Amino acid sequence: MINVTKTYLPPLAEYVAYLEGIWERTLVTNNGPLVVELEEKLKSYLGVKHLFFVANGTVALQIAFKALALRGEVITTPFSYVATTSSIAWEGCQPIYVDIHPQTLCLDATLLERAITAETTAVVATHVYGNPCEVEAIQVLADKYGLQVIYDAAHAFGVQHRGQSILNFGNVSALSFHATKLFHTGEGGAIVTDDDELAFKLGYMVNFGHNGPERFWGLGINGKNSELHAAMGLCVLPNVAELIRCRQALSNLYDQLLEGRGLAKPVISAETTYNYAYYPVLFPDEEKLLAVMTALREQQVFSRRYFYPALTDLPYVRPQQAPVAQSVASRVLCLPLAHDLAPATVQQIAATVINCL
Ligand SMILES: *Cc1c(COP(=O)(O)O)cnc(C)c1O
Repeated sequence: MINVTKTYLPPLAEYVAYLEGIWERTLVTNNGPLVVELEEKLKSYLGVKHLFFVANGTVALQIAFKALALRGEVITTPFSYVATTSSIAWEGCQPIYVDIHPQTLCLDATLLERAITAETTAVVATHVYGNPCEVEAIQVLADKYGLQVIYDAAHAFGVQHRGQSILNFGNVSALSFHATKLFHTGEGGAIVTDDDELAFKLGYMVNFGHNGPERFWGLGINGKNSELHAAMGLCVLPNVAELIRCRQALSNLYDQLLEGRGLAKPVISAETTYNYAYYPVLFPDEEKLLAVMTALREQQVFSRRYFYPALTDLPYVRPQQAPVAQSVASRVLCLPLAHDLAPATVQQIAATVINCL
């Protein structure tokens, strides 16, 4: 059976070595030495100033929204995982959709200004499949209208834009370290910012607002992650570069095999150092997509409609139109991509896709 992705698990002995340390210290959570070590190593690997290792990517977004005091209308993308919109709604804000660019599949910055109202407090955009948003154009408008900018960077681990980490754009970026992501800690995520004042606030907020055992700085939540999860991250991190290399080679192979067949892919800028987090393909229509999915399933190969449906279809969001996102969501399929996928399997999958066109 071939799934859309496969979690990289390190050699068990490496994980066990970290577990032995945890058993010796009998310190399992509450900012233990492995959490601190992982945060330091991630900051240096990613090239970012402040990073908080938290329980998951969704809580990373929610804590960021709380720390930035978002309220009223929040402009966001209709083409992302549900957590991008649900976290906005969960924090009591109203998601307002701006359609996506048909080539990058990220929020279309040319449509942003007309969506801004007196109630708008922020823009929450996703670097879809790790493809950077138009960060400069978004920042120009954010500065003009005094808006906060938060990036859902769940797919963007290790991505660089114009020679620096994509995580350094906007006020805050949120990462997910879920087991299906390129870099993972089982469950986990991170809040990244280069703003010292905001980082001070986040440091308290992720730990119930505690300021010492008997004092509180202010309102907080339990956003912490554990030593067990940090240990997984410390085992996976040294292998990320190699994982990316494997995925790049397999992506290139898919590209070669599928070229000239009328399939589209998101366009990635020459200024991007990409992480090959996903292999999305856009079919001319939904019928072809469904035929491919079925044919693959018959061979025990599981692709995934990522993202489907468009977030405009969520039952708890005011109905809005986003024709590009709705069309893309109906036609996009992520083909299996994993570090240890055999080139012969990629050939088999590509042949099946071509057969259905
Ligand atoms: C995975 C994902 C999330 C949620 O991350 P969790 O760690 O699972 O909470 C948010 N946004 C996007 C775009 C994602 O792909």
